[in-house]
Amino acid sequence: MSQDIAERIVRAGRLMFERHLTDLAGGNITVRHEDVLYCSPRYAGTRHHWNLRPEDIVIGPLYGDDLVNHPRFTREGLSHLAIYRAYPFVRAVIHAHPRHVLPFCAFEKPIHPVLRGTQKYGVIGFIDHAPNYSQQQADSIVAKLQGQEERMQSSAAALLMPQHGIILAGVELETVLDALERIDTNAWCILAGQTIPPL
Ligand SMILES: [Zn+2]
Repeated sequence: MSQDIAERIVRAGRLMFERHLTDLAGGNITVRHEDVLYCSPRYAGTRHHWNLRPEDIVIGPLYGDDLVNHPRFTREGLSHLAIYRAYPFVRAVIHAHPRHVLPFCAFEKPIHPVLRGTQKYGVIGFIDHAPNYSQQQADSIVAKLQGQEERMQSSAAALLMPQHGIILAGVELETVLDALERIDTNAWCILAGQTIPPL
C-alpha cells in the first residue's frame, strides 16, 4: 500500500509539472491513508525538478510533531496538516503554481466557472493574506473551506492564495489532480477569451 501511494504521488507530480500545472518554484502533494500522511518532499521542484522516486516520499503520522520536525517535510506542510485534521474525510491535498491560474492570483481576481466541467467548483475565491508556510495561512485555508465539505467529498474544493498559487482538497488524489487541470483550463479560457475579436 505505501509503495502504491508513493508511486501515485510521484506520477501525479510528474504530470503536474509536464502539464504546467506547477513549476520549478514549488507545489506539493500529500495523501492520507488512515492516520499516516504521504508527502512529496521539500524542494520537489527546485531541487528534484519533479523527477521524484517513490523513496523520496516523506511518510509520517498525521497527529503529533514528527512530520513538522522532519527535515524533508514540505514547506507548505502546515497547511496540509491543518486541512486533514479539520476535515477528516479528506484524503488528498495538492498545492500548485499553475500557469494560467497565476495571473488571477497575481491580481487577486476570483476564477468564475466558464466551462460545464468546472461548475462544480463554484467561484474560486481567495484565502486571507498571510505569510507563506505560516499557521495563519493554514488557519485561513481551513476557514475558507468551511461550507465546501460537499465539494471536497464529491470532487475537490479549491482556494486561491494571493500572489502565490492554489490549494485543493478532496478524497482521491487523481480527482484532485483532475480538478487542478480543469481549473487551469478554465482560467486559460477566461484569459484567451479576451483575445477573441467581436463578430
Ligand atoms: Zn507554493
